[in-house]
Amino acid sequence: MTDKPWGTLVGVRPAKQLHRLLDQGINYEDAFVQMHKENIISAEKFALLWQVCQKERPILAESSRPHLFSIYVGVPFCPTRCLYCSFPAHSLSELGSLRKQFIAALLQEIAATGNLTQEFKLQPYTVYFGGGTPTALHAAELETIIIALRQAFPGTWREFTIEAGRPDTLTADHLAVMKQYGVNRVSVNPQTMHQETLNRIGRRHSPEDIVYAMQAVREAKIDIINMDLIIGLPGENTKLVQASVQQVLALSPENITLHVFSRKRASRYAQKEELFSLPDTNSIVEMHTTATTMITKQDYHPYYLYRQRDILGDLENIGYALPGCECLYNIAMIEERHHILGLGGGATSKFIRPDFSLKNLSSPKDVRMYIERVPQLLRLRELELKKSLSFS
Ligand code: SF4
Repeated sequence: MTDKPWGTLVGVRPAKQLHRLLDQGINYEDAFVQMHKENIISAEKFALLWQVCQKERPILAESSRPHLFSIYVGVPFCPTRCLYCSFPAHSLSELGSLRKQFIAALLQEIAATGNLTQEFKLQPYTVYFGGGTPTALHAAELETIIIALRQAFPGTWREFTIEAGRPDTLTADHLAVMKQYGVNRVSVNPQTMHQETLNRIGRRHSPEDIVYAMQAVREAKIDIINMDLIIGLPGENTKLVQASVQQVLALSPENITLHVFSRKRASRYAQKEELFSLPDTNSIVEMHTTATTMITKQDYHPYYLYRQRDILGDLENIGYALPGCECLYNIAMIEERHHILGLGGGATSKFIRPDFSLKNLSSPKDVRMYIERVPQLLRLRELELKKSLSFS
């Protein structure tokens, strides 16, 4: 493998480029020749990209219509902050007292955005709750938000995901609410099944908590479960990665998302880098190859991928799915051919024009600023939506 298997494709969304070629009806060989010439992509990464794009095409054909949109709801609270995190995630002990104000602001945003989408006769496609950790809210708080969403965005949602990334936050009451309101995809994220690493990265749960949470989601009969793993966590090696992947596979999730550690500037890691030792490039590649081989030996296939700045080993984050279990929202969000309306803290809206150029609009990551700025965000959203729709 070369040092830079992705060549000059340093952006986060390498599949977008191949989709543009596929729109012109190009075949595998010609697409590779062109992308290799322009971007020096390796044959191995091109083959992976091709596989991903083939899985995405039918879903993009269905979702890339100007009257469709997806909703992202950002809940910017977590029990504690993970070492590598750069997401909007206030620890509950720090700013949990603002939960009620946050929910009031979010309800205002949901109602006003719902009026706007109904006025423009737009149809919701998927709904995704992320953050943060949505299950850091009480079940009754989550229910209030979901009821508001169902009222504001009536219609059939093709997919409804809630991240319950921290298993120590998920309760039977949360699951009852999810079941009642049609949640059909839940994320339970171990990152690693090794207790020492969990302690090191600041997550206050055990590998056993993951197993209990998985059993509870299965018993609630939610169709699809995703599990996230991270390759290259400080102190980890191939043996530990192998053990984590083995334990995750034994739980038979429909989706596995394999991330690679990246040094994010806004993370706790960046402030105390000298205290942690990260694996070298060869070790990262070995761990990644081991994990991907184990996953793809089962029935999982890669269905979306993205890259990050400063990702270890110059690798990629990949979502794997069992056949027919691909996450529609993830594809729509990464390939940027479908409007996303981001509601809540640190959420990004994407307004797509017919030529697939886009305008992003992000709400503040800091929950205090988000609460203050909701009226301004609503004005900007209306303007951008009108502009995008005027092109259709
Ligand atoms: S669970 Fe996710 S959002 Fe929350 S602190 Fe950890 S990485 Fe950040």
